Amino acid sequence: MKIITSVKEMNAFADEAHALGKKIGLVPTMGYLHDGHLSLIKKSVSENDVTVVSVFVNPTQFAPNEDFKTYPRDLNRDAALAESVGADAVFHPEPEEMYPDGYHTYISVEKLTEVLCGVSRPTHFRGVTTVVAKLFNIARADRAYFGQKDAQQLAVVRRMVADLNMNIEIVGCPIVRESDGLALSSRNVFLSPDERSQALVLYKSLCTAKGLLEGGERSAARIRAEIERVIKTAPLADIDYIEIVRYDDLTAVETIDCKVLIALAVRFGKTRLIDNIIF
Ligand code: AMP
Repeated sequence: MKIITSVKEMNAFADEAHALGKKIGLVPTMGYLHDGHLSLIKKSVSENDVTVVSVFVNPTQFAPNEDFKTYPRDLNRDAALAESVGADAVFHPEPEEMYPDGYHTYISVEKLTEVLCGVSRPTHFRGVTTVVAKLFNIARADRAYFGQKDAQQLAVVRRMVADLNMNIEIVGCPIVRESDGLALSSRNVFLSPDERSQALVLYKSLCTAKGLLEGGERSAARIRAEIERVIKTAPLADIDYIEIVRYDDLTAVETIDCKVLIALAVRFGKTRLIDNIIF
């Protein structure tokens, strides 16, 4: 497996694959890989001739007060894990390679980025769409793989690809969880043992919501209240948001009569966790 750090070399690697008629699958990540990331890589390996995993902690999607500097990094471990599930290349550029002096171009998707995580992280998705568009171009990807864990990110990327007529297929992949239900995240390493055990309320609250929906409850307000009640049983949980939105356009729903995304973001100490279900 190749480790590629320059845009030029990544282009050449991709051009060579395309010249041989191969399809390229891209898995964009910020590294510190876990089984959630590996599920995306495996899916790409099964559907493409060549799989490129990008490992890039993208500075433009972090606000100044966020955890860019402390975000966990371990390239050697990531490369070994990516290779173990069949990746062909890891693309690991330095920030200066992606954003050289004089860089001034950003992509902003409107509306979808103004709700959910966009409220407390107003500049986040502009960084995400910008880096993702750059990675699509640099790796000349035919398909790109994203986790449903970041449901809003997936919706925003799909919107960008449709709106800008990008010639790439976006593949969404299900959330991978620990055996006790906690969604895998690179940020879980920051949780203290107490925070880790209390973080289980996230999935528990979503399961409670699912149970209510399956029992016929259709009031978004009542389901939201029940989710809040379950989360508040954890004294360390500090709720950022609990939202029930239309899956298609992330607008709020009052009566659940369509495909919905139930999404939440909760802080435990300094660590902000997100989780969601689709119903
Ligand atoms: P990140 O490195 O956190 O930016 O995530 C890279 C990709 O992996 C994104 O598309 C995430 O949605 C996806 N991902 C992260 N955690 C999980 C998970 N637990 N299950 C499935 N996909 C995930």
